[in-house]
Amino acid sequence: MNLDEIDIHKELKKYFGFSQFKGLQEQVIKSIIAKQNTFVIMPTGGGKSLCYQLPALIQEGTAIVVSPLIALMKNQVDAIRSLSSENGIAHVLNSSLTKTEINQVKKDITSGITKLLYVAPESLTKEEYVEFLRTVPISFVAIDEAHCISEWGHDFRPEYRNLRHIIKQLGEVPVIGLTATATPKVQEDILKNLDMTDATTFKASFNRPNLFYEVRTKTKNIEADIIRFIKQNKGKSGIIYCLSRKKVEEIAEVLQVNGISAVPYHAGLDAKTRAKHQDMFLMEDVEVVVATIAFGMGIDKPDVRFVIHHDIPKSLESYYQETGRAGRDGGEGHCLAYYSYKDVEKLEKFMSGKPVAEQEIGFALLQEVVAYAETSMSRRKFLLHYFGEEFDSENGEGADMDDNVRNPKTKVEAKEQVKT
Ligand code: ADP
Ligand code: MG
Repeated sequence: MNLDEIDIHKELKKYFGFSQFKGLQEQVIKSIIAKQNTFVIMPTGGGKSLCYQLPALIQEGTAIVVSPLIALMKNQVDAIRSLSSENGIAHVLNSSLTKTEINQVKKDITSGITKLLYVAPESLTKEEYVEFLRTVPISFVAIDEAHCISEWGHDFRPEYRNLRHIIKQLGEVPVIGLTATATPKVQEDILKNLDMTDATTFKASFNRPNLFYEVRTKTKNIEADIIRFIKQNKGKSGIIYCLSRKKVEEIAEVLQVNGISAVPYHAGLDAKTRAKHQDMFLMEDVEVVVATIAFGMGIDKPDVRFVIHHDIPKSLESYYQETGRAGRDGGEGHCLAYYSYKDVEKLEKFMSGKPVAEQEIGFALLQEVVAYAETSMSRRKFLLHYFGEEFDSENGEGADMDDNVRNPKTKVEAKEQVKT
């Protein structure tokens, strides 16, 4: 098969039913087909999976996809299988498989049926698997959630550090790294640790022009302030993030007492209650979910209209992810964070029990959040700069969508002083 002659638009339509690529997908796919090491940075929901799925489906050999979460891998395998009449087209290789199942997977790979093989990083360290994979044609290795390789990312996983070593044993195969983490430090770590500084890099913009960013000083009246905000936004869906389970329960109750339909969500609730509360939110039986950061992973509610942070997040990375759940449909999304230095001290105290290296990273990340909260410049410009992106705060998309730009207090005061 001559890959130069493949019409990837046609393949896109054939396998996925889409008539257009999203963002940088087409360029990424061409880079992968050209056997180049490729690095993809796109926000969550940007369509990273398709960047490796499509080339895997149309190329010879099996693509290995490393992903940190078994549930996520299973979802993707089911989705790929539904596109084909061949069940063996995608497989997961992990420790829960029986001997018979493993043999079936091996058979499908050897006979060329399997186009995508999902593996957890810890499975890939198994000598037996590596020995086998050395003997079969591999199209490329894709490393999803590649930020897991960096201690500066929000989800460091030591097993990811072994990946380069294992990939080298598979011979000359192109490596594709994918992440939604845009900070330059994490990116550098990924390229270095995967030994792919030669990679062609594709980075999508992280700007969310429809989101309005606001920071309010946290006072004793925070609960009344939140209630007022929600009442002003009656009928709209929103998420309130709190640091502790206790605070989640407290705020949910205060809201309920004040006639706002709200449910709590945190890891301390049993699975059934969590699922019920999540469904109630998705089905719009309640307007507000009060939650710890346990809530939101994989939630795709398009019309979340506000995300409130009762306590400041531990990094701007998390803040971006959490606020990113607002306005998925492109409509309005208000991101309001309450800030007090006491919260910063509380978070620092939390971290003081951790190993020194982790503490130092934690403090540094937190200082960026403080700087964001205290800045008087465009918050969008600040956030995007943190992600290594220059934003034109005069004419950029969404330039007037934050409290500092709409209401430049300090600037006005300074001007008035000059006049008198
Ligand atoms: P990411 O991994 O970047 O967070 P996903 O790969 O999960 O994003 O994709 C997010 C959504 O975008 C999925 O629902 C997917 O079906 C959809 N999607 C991906 N590519 C396209 C496309 N070319 N056209 C339309 N929808 C797409
Ligand atoms: Mg993804």
